[in-house]
Amino acid sequence: MKIIMLGAPGAGKGTQAKLIADKYSVPHISTGDIFRANIKEGTELGKKAKEYMDKGALVPDELTCDLVMDRISQDDCVNGFVLDGFPRTIPQAESLSAALEKEGKSMDFAIDIEVPDENIINRMGGRRACKGCGATYHIVNIPPKKEGICDRCGEELVLRDDDKPETVKNRLSVYHDQTQPLIDYYNKKNILHEVDGTMEMNDVFNAITAILGA
Ligand code: AMP
Repeated sequence: MKIIMLGAPGAGKGTQAKLIADKYSVPHISTGDIFRANIKEGTELGKKAKEYMDKGALVPDELTCDLVMDRISQDDCVNGFVLDGFPRTIPQAESLSAALEKEGKSMDFAIDIEVPDENIINRMGGRRACKGCGATYHIVNIPPKKEGICDRCGEELVLRDDDKPETVKNRLSVYHDQTQPLIDYYNKKNILHEVDGTMEMNDVFNAITAILGA
């Protein structure tokens, strides 16, 4: 089962992708998480990616595509994967499609989680991420057991640089310009499914599993 999560930043793609990965036993591949891990480790890729991420801009395709193609060719991806945050541009979608075609494969589902911009702006201001393990919370919707502290690893929770209000506005405009065209792209490929992302987290997940099957 090869799944793409679409939707604006903050629509809940990451949360739902993790739930899907658990239920269907496929790896969750988040390009944002891969870049953040590289930033934390201080790699060359991390240094380059950070320049773009801090502004809310997209990391160039030449730094992004090979990374994903390499990841999906690994053994744990034979039965499928959930892509979260990739593709984000039509050229990325085309390089994904070309890489899969070479092996006679194609994507099975593109799930678009729809959330209006106003809700996104409110949500992202309340989002907190763990400095240690990267787990995400929301001060109202998904609060940690102890304020400001990660349930999983006990590290401090912070507002990510790219969740700051000015950056969020920029990320939304980048989303509308460059990523939203993918909705039409996957609709034409007949694999697009839309889900109302304003619902409660479990209801969104139920809507997704109704699409993917038991
Ligand atoms: P995310 O955690 O998916 O919201 O990604 C955080 C940031 O990482 C984005 O705002 C981009 O700067 C960068 N990024 C993640 N995925 C991609 C991608 N597929 N193409 C380009 N930039 C990306």
